[in-house]
Amino acid sequence: MSDILPSWSFILVAAGSGSRLGGTPKQFRKLGPQPVWSWSARVADRLFSRGRINELVVVLPRDYDFPSGKDFGCPLTYVHGGATRSESVRNGMRASTADYVMIHDAARPFLSVEICDALIDATDAEHGAVPLLASCDSLKEINAGVVRAVSREKIYRTQTPQSFNRGTMLEILTSSTCDATDEATMWLNASRELVYVPGNERNFKITTEFDWIVAASLVEKGRVIHIGMGYDVHELVPGRRLVLGGVEAPSPLGLLGHSDADIICHALADALLGAAGEGDIGTLFPASDKRYKNADSTVLLKQVLILLVEKGWSLVWADITLVAQFPRLGEEIPKITDFLKTIINTYCPFSGLSIKVKSGEHVGSIGRAECMACYAAATIEHYSM
Ligand code: MG
Repeated sequence: MSDILPSWSFILVAAGSGSRLGGTPKQFRKLGPQPVWSWSARVADRLFSRGRINELVVVLPRDYDFPSGKDFGCPLTYVHGGATRSESVRNGMRASTADYVMIHDAARPFLSVEICDALIDATDAEHGAVPLLASCDSLKEINAGVVRAVSREKIYRTQTPQSFNRGTMLEILTSSTCDATDEATMWLNASRELVYVPGNERNFKITTEFDWIVAASLVEKGRVIHIGMGYDVHELVPGRRLVLGGVEAPSPLGLLGHSDADIICHALADALLGAAGEGDIGTLFPASDKRYKNADSTVLLKQVLILLVEKGWSLVWADITLVAQFPRLGEEIPKITDFLKTIINTYCPFSGLSIKVKSGEHVGSIGRAECMACYAAATIEHYSM
């Protein structure tokens, strides 16, 4: 992101403790492969990889432990919320360092990147921005038991995210004594100006059991799964390091190649690219390009993962089979698996990985320890909703 552009924080408010659905607060209920709050965090992650936001702040209930071990590519801070909504939002905004904030309810998992883009473009120092939706139902007002008609022409429903200048909004939240159901109301009550962008019916808030059924069926219907496979082979020669899945294995022989010849990373990257229909690593990182001479292949793998995440894909599971006669690698495999998991989980927090090794049975070029081969299969998913 260029220096002249203002910085943005995505504040994800997941601090509510009650639930009309009963049991676990709705934002922590599992919706498809991940908890409800995480759906919006993934959108924030995509906004980050497209250079539109700088950080994600997740506001959790006061008694809730911060998640550990799983992360997003986007810089992420967890903070505890307060007793009221505005206290929670204020805590989130104080943990942020950006010029502008986009405040989103974690109970709206089907946020789109397009709404966020429109909000960022519409917000400036004087104007906050919100997504608005017209009402399809005719409206009535009840005042002291008397029902009156209200024209729906001028009445709109407000969604989140809502975006504001952080300093101004923080001032409003700090000085105001009353709580409101959204930040836009507090902004307007402080005589500030608001602009709007089109909301989206899919960006609904999960409140009732019916909403939950709708959300679960949207996830079910919108899930697209692709499977890709990758293969790589490199010659085994003296005088080269043996790098497998980013881990250097003790060996008198190493793999020969233009990069570090890390066949596990290469096969996995090709499986990912194949699944996403994005070509192969030979095309993306050509051997003729001097930048990739002796390249660390985990860097290439990370670039492939970023490309997938940007396109809305995430890795579900990767299965890798390394075929090597020499050296014996049984003891190295758990180390390699752990290391690669930390890489893939950075971009795809709910993904898993299995790596196994087979010998060459003393047959053919692998059996004669002239080379090593690696096969990888990757299952990736995205949700078109
Ligand atoms: Mg290769």
